[in-house]
Amino acid sequence: MKYNAVIFDLDGTLVYTPLECTRYLAKKAFGEFGINLSDEEADYFWFSHKREDFIGEKGLDVETFWDVYRKHDTYEFRKPSLKLYEDAGIIQEAKSKGYKTGIVTGAPLHIILLSQQIIGRQNLDCSIRAQKKSGFEPKPNPQALIHCIESIGAKSPETIYVGNGDEDVLVSRAAGVLDVIIERGEHDLMKETPSLRIKSLYELRDFL
Ligand SMILES: [Mg+2]
Repeated sequence: MKYNAVIFDLDGTLVYTPLECTRYLAKKAFGEFGINLSDEEADYFWFSHKREDFIGEKGLDVETFWDVYRKHDTYEFRKPSLKLYEDAGIIQEAKSKGYKTGIVTGAPLHIILLSQQIIGRQNLDCSIRAQKKSGFEPKPNPQALIHCIESIGAKSPETIYVGNGDEDVLVSRAAGVLDVIIERGEHDLMKETPSLRIKSLYELRDFL
């Protein structure tokens, strides 16, 4: 099978925020409601795909919480803390070999903006935020991924989607693309079985 497009998830796949920053953010936001989070709870909040359940379990209204959270999780706060994984250099490699590249993520717009800056806009053909506020259903709904594939002139069977969570496997299956999971060994709590697991994005060279 010949692939000609590689699309990536962002958080935990191409970029990350160090634990001291994610814990600070979570503790600060919950702290405004008089709730003291432990490091373990802060990590669970950050990495779980059931963040809204966690907020509810703490007795908070989800929308109210996010309003407070967003006051702290700003462009200015993330700018010095958002880091690119070393193996994200694969994007530039893929691009130089003529592959189409893109990002489909549920991350906030300021994270997408910062990521584009550190990856280099010239290395990305398409960046889409899979969130209702941006006009798309969130992952695992394939709407945003399919839109990205079409906008770069690719086809699903010729596309690889790389992510780090269950929703990334599910969105790939729904869109009919090859699902690849990068295992960073940090917080891999997966239920789904991906078609391919890799430990470094450079393993994608086998396909490029
Ligand atoms: Mg992710």
